[in-house]
Amino acid sequence: MQYVSTRAAASAASSSSQQFSDILLGGLAADGGLFLPTAYPQVTGAELDAWRQLSYADLAYEILKKFATDIPEADLRALTAKTYTKEVYKNARKGEKASQITPLRVLEEGANGTKLVLQALSNGPTLAFKDMAMQLLGNLFEYTLAKHNAQLNIFGATSGDTGSAAEYAMRGKKGIRVFMLSPHKKMSAFQTAQMFSLQDPNIFNIAIEGVFDDAQDMVKAVSNDLPFKAKQKIGTVNSINWARVVAQVVYYFRGYLSATTSNDQKVSFTVPSGNFGNICAGHIARMMGLPIDKLVAATNENDVLDEFFRTGVYRVRKSSETYHTSSPSMDISKASNFERFIYDLVGRDGDRTRALFQKVETHGGFDLSGKPGSDGDEFKLVAKYGFKSGKSTHEDRLNTIRDVADDYGIVIDTHTADGIKVARENLEPGVTMIVLETALAAKFNETILDALGEDAERPEGFENIEDLPQKFVVMPPDVEKMKAYIAANTGL
Ligand SMILES: *Cc1c(COP(=O)(O)O)cnc(C)c1O
Repeated sequence: MQYVSTRAAASAASSSSQQFSDILLGGLAADGGLFLPTAYPQVTGAELDAWRQLSYADLAYEILKKFATDIPEADLRALTAKTYTKEVYKNARKGEKASQITPLRVLEEGANGTKLVLQALSNGPTLAFKDMAMQLLGNLFEYTLAKHNAQLNIFGATSGDTGSAAEYAMRGKKGIRVFMLSPHKKMSAFQTAQMFSLQDPNIFNIAIEGVFDDAQDMVKAVSNDLPFKAKQKIGTVNSINWARVVAQVVYYFRGYLSATTSNDQKVSFTVPSGNFGNICAGHIARMMGLPIDKLVAATNENDVLDEFFRTGVYRVRKSSETYHTSSPSMDISKASNFERFIYDLVGRDGDRTRALFQKVETHGGFDLSGKPGSDGDEFKLVAKYGFKSGKSTHEDRLNTIRDVADDYGIVIDTHTADGIKVARENLEPGVTMIVLETALAAKFNETILDALGEDAERPEGFENIEDLPQKFVVMPPDVEKMKAYIAANTGL
């Protein structure tokens, strides 16, 4: 399996392609595009039938081996077996089986043949769906680095979910250190405790005196110093990482296969969306031949994606137009994985994709509505890819959390509430609608208290997390001090 950049010129496509292991540790392609396979591997009906019986780990192996063709199969099987265990994904709700890794729960079967189902993706160590991919990435990184006797220093900024998922995936891994910046005293007590209570010597928590953007700017400044970056072997694990996207493809297959008994049954997914990483994996599963009917992107007030799927206009937001909401992991100004879908939408034309995303830089967006003066008319093809969308507000989230507690007896988090709200608007008779649960409520307790007047239940082991000893340093937003700190701790 070869990979190509979404911005590759038609003439360069074959000569510049790379294999899975070549792009595993990297981020953007050299031309600024994102990596995709030169063609999506296809699944047959017979394969789907056989996969119905598989454990999650074995299913992950079957799917990954189609993409990671340069990793020996026995090694890949060992990696997926080590990653997807009931010990790692142990935080299942009462009545759900941890051994299923992403258990389904039927919320409602309507008299008119509609069906609403929740797929739990948040049973991993940090109680959010990012563990599904990040835990695999940790094991893949360790495996690849050991093979080349190399090391990697992951450097990033977080306002919550991504940083903790990365730290829990990389803790104790040989050859890897994590330097994670977060805004000092700006994360919730729970999120802070989750990260800072890690005592592993390869995890470095750095609280920056400033806001998230200051931390993010430091990461950019340090990463732009290419000699420093090379010498210190600095890498990232952000949401454009191809291996993360591929690992997420697996749970769409699991969801479909668990919700159906034969391959002619219809299933749609509603996905709480921010950077388009999660739902991009759904798109890839569909392109591989998984019989997904609709892919519904649910956004909050930051509705960049909803706007595109309603109008064909992609318009990124300025910081002043980006709202801090009660579903903060979806508070994005642009969707960093969206380029992968646009590449497919414009017929895998790297030149067009490059021009469109250069226009995002110069003009803040592009317009594929087909109206006079627009950049193209491919919006008319969106329905063919199954995409739909919807959005919700803070008020909607509070109401949905209340409704779900009353009607189905479970407490959901704010991001999942965005998903359920939009899913309910897109139910169709004869089609099972699966909503992906992207976090557990305990992570966003402040809003749960507002909605229900009581605390969200905490999974076992998290009861007193705020009281554990914390390991972190506080630093000013000073790039030179940051570099000195990294160099001192890598010894490179
Ligand atoms: C990251 C995140 C999202 C958004 O996922 P994308 O892949 O960026 O679209 C939604 N919900 C939660 C809880 C998250 O952590």
